[in-house]
Amino acid sequence: MVGGSIRHWPKIVVHFLFPDVCMLCGRVLSPGDNCSEETKELLICSQCLCRIVPRHEDERIFPCLSDPYEGDPIPDFAVWVLLHYEMPVTVLLRNLKFHSWRYAGKLLGNLIAREFPKDLPAKWDAVIPVPLSEKRMRQRGYNQASVLAEDLAKTLDAPLLEETLIRTRHTHQQSRYTDPVSRNENVKGAFAVSEKWDIQGWNILVVDDILTTGATLHEAAKVLYEAGAAHVMGVVAATHREKNSGKGKTPA
Ligand SMILES: [Zn+2]
Repeated sequence: MVGGSIRHWPKIVVHFLFPDVCMLCGRVLSPGDNCSEETKELLICSQCLCRIVPRHEDERIFPCLSDPYEGDPIPDFAVWVLLHYEMPVTVLLRNLKFHSWRYAGKLLGNLIAREFPKDLPAKWDAVIPVPLSEKRMRQRGYNQASVLAEDLAKTLDAPLLEETLIRTRHTHQQSRYTDPVSRNENVKGAFAVSEKWDIQGWNILVVDDILTTGATLHEAAKVLYEAGAAHVMGVVAATHREKNSGKGKTPA
């Protein structure tokens, strides 16, 4: 029986026994052959990376709510979305959320950071992930929105603030509800800005994984504006929505 920590094993043995494989197709990653050094780090082969096609640059900005309603306090709140919610992005996001594929979030976060426009508007003061409830955080072990936001914050040289926006209560999975009204109700009053933070006049990016009706992001942005933020914009990995259309099926 082999004893001791794996960290003390010769590197060549570790590599032989546990080679890095592509998270989508399972092929062993070999730089110069089927990936670059960088994409090897991201655990994806060139072929599978090519299957993740960003939305056209002109089709990345969405109004947040799919069904804007009378009296929306932040009707101009917009969301930047990189990808279509389709294969293989669906696999990455589902496994990030439900099967501990944190590395899928690293990959998507890396793509978001590369593609996010760098000339909007002046300077971002903070990148804030949509928070999970304590219960869900315990179940999952990490916040998928935080994983997606990490590289974006680094690229923009803005702090990633995970304790500024907080969940005030547990909510059901939004995917349990198919109609916009129920989804709005489910997240209503679910967020608050921590009293420890003064965000007056800040430009803030608020990050989430999927844009469906926009209810969650809208509620988070509303709370940030109420606490004094100057400008809030959403950043999301994927949506099934087409540009300026709120219709589409609810992702699982
Ligand atoms: Zn692959």
